[in-house]
Amino acid sequence: MNDEHYHEIKSNKQYNPQMHSAEHILNQTMVRMFNCGRSFSNHIEKKKSKCDYHFNRNLTEEEVNIINHKVNEIIQQDLNVVEEFYQKYEAQNIFNLSRLPEDAGDKLRVIKIGEYDACPCSGLHVTHTKEIGCFKIFSTDFKDDVLRIRFKLINE
Ligand SMILES: [Zn+2]
Repeated sequence: MNDEHYHEIKSNKQYNPQMHSAEHILNQTMVRMFNCGRSFSNHIEKKKSKCDYHFNRNLTEEEVNIINHKVNEIIQQDLNVVEEFYQKYEAQNIFNLSRLPEDAGDKLRVIKIGEYDACPCSGLHVTHTKEIGCFKIFSTDFKDDVLRIRFKLINE
């Protein structure tokens, strides 16, 4: 990583890398289970985080258990988290770039979590998924077509 790029990342929001990497896995899990989009709004902090999804109801307890299980299964596989660079014209056929800032440049950084997830992102991540610890949803609620999932990480 060159200095210029490093500067660009550092100047972004200072996410907690474990939490933020968990968010990537949660988003992919939601997309696979419900065919909803990735979270359109989120608040990522070290102690607890929340992600909002466009949805039509709250989750059942069973669904929450399945999501917890799936996210932890991916974490336990200790997948490599790597960055790849795409030209923007290549990337727009593969990814949803609607949330990308206009001035993002011609090269796009994509974060891949094994074969499980790939998503354009300029944030800070773990290098392999076991660093994340144990993922746990502690509440969900639904209001005005928005599903909010709150989660934390348990690190022994
Ligand atoms: Zn990211």
